[in-house]
Amino acid sequence: MAKQHLHWRQVQVSPNRRGDCFVATKRLLAMTFPGTMKYRELNIQTQREAPNNARTEGFAFLVRAGYLTRENVPTPLGEYTINHLRDLSNDPSFLFHLSLPIISNVAETFFPIATGSIEVARCPSCQYTERLELARFAKTPPAQEAELRLEKVFTPDCHTIEALANFLDVPKEKTAKALMYTRVTDNKFVFVVVRGDMQLSEAKLRQHVGDIRPATAEEIESSGAAAGYASPIALKDALIVVDDLIPQSQNLVAGANETGYHLKNTNHGRDYSAEIVADLVQVKEGDACFNCENHLSVLSVMGLATRKEYDFENILLALAETHHDTKGLTLPHPAAPFDVYLMQIPGREMDTRAKTEEIYHTLQNAGITVLFDDRDERAGVKFNDADLIGCPIRVTVGEKNLKEGKIELKKRTEANSQLLLIEETVPFLKK
Ligand SMILES: [Zn+2]
Repeated sequence: MAKQHLHWRQVQVSPNRRGDCFVATKRLLAMTFPGTMKYRELNIQTQREAPNNARTEGFAFLVRAGYLTRENVPTPLGEYTINHLRDLSNDPSFLFHLSLPIISNVAETFFPIATGSIEVARCPSCQYTERLELARFAKTPPAQEAELRLEKVFTPDCHTIEALANFLDVPKEKTAKALMYTRVTDNKFVFVVVRGDMQLSEAKLRQHVGDIRPATAEEIESSGAAAGYASPIALKDALIVVDDLIPQSQNLVAGANETGYHLKNTNHGRDYSAEIVADLVQVKEGDACFNCENHLSVLSVMGLATRKEYDFENILLALAETHHDTKGLTLPHPAAPFDVYLMQIPGREMDTRAKTEEIYHTLQNAGITVLFDDRDERAGVKFNDADLIGCPIRVTVGEKNLKEGKIELKKRTEANSQLLLIEETVPFLKK
């Protein structure tokens, strides 16, 4: 055993470095001490202050508790925890056992977080969840009108829907917004129309036409369109794609394909026809759920899992965001890398350390995962670090209790501790 310790120290690297060397270290550790570790072996470095670059409380506690560096790189403790989560993920339902407020659909699992880089639409009623750019919603068809005669109007400096709607004093939903692309595979000019009060989702467009890029000025001109005053009427060699509300919306204002002019009362089917009619627009907060018509919410999230893989670093952050108090992390079983934080208080008369080593091996042999704080630090320092690191249970071995054959056991999420006979510890932890 001692030889293996020495071996471990030989390959130990700085917690700021990641590399093959450390991978080898982890494998060795996993073979030697499954789920059991000493504080000094992990070279844990806790910090009193939150890093000034912390964007969330969870990240701040992961750095303070020594799971991550300030540069967001896992330390040996962080790597150990991520490996623990990876082991748990052999159970396909493991994410549901981590007490996280996750939201998911058949393809992905997300965690709501203000700093998340992904936006999803979420129905609070039926739980429909989809990336914002692909989310469906129930559109309200406009009141039907008789088709009116086309009318060309002078609209100087009306380059935007807002300017146009103001100038003509019409609501934006009575205008047609034009967007022009070129299909990457065959350079086909793609002319897209959505209602002026809505935003195109390029992700939805790609699902129907393939990969696209913005059309160049030359491509727009050669199709017969006029930038800023474009409409799908009388274009050459264009693939016309419209949102499914367009054929239901009569008498829209659209460009006249002549700078400075628009057309009033354009109508799909009469003045032009689309080759593709599909849902192309992006959902917004408050739109009606496609399934149940309740109002959709828009949430910032980070991804925890796809069909193919897990993001264990994001899962660790989600755990820290969800499970902490003012003193540190409060990781629940089975998410916590260790079930027990074991510490001894140096004695005046007794060798508390030797007794703690004994308890350490007893817990280990009983299959309980233990982080043994084997440092010669004051009790207060160890208590603070135990709270920061956040194992579910702290076991303290001190001289006074030891004389009565007892240890002190405290649950991380409870204020009070209790005394247990040493021989009662394993049965208590196992129940
Ligand atoms: Zn719904």
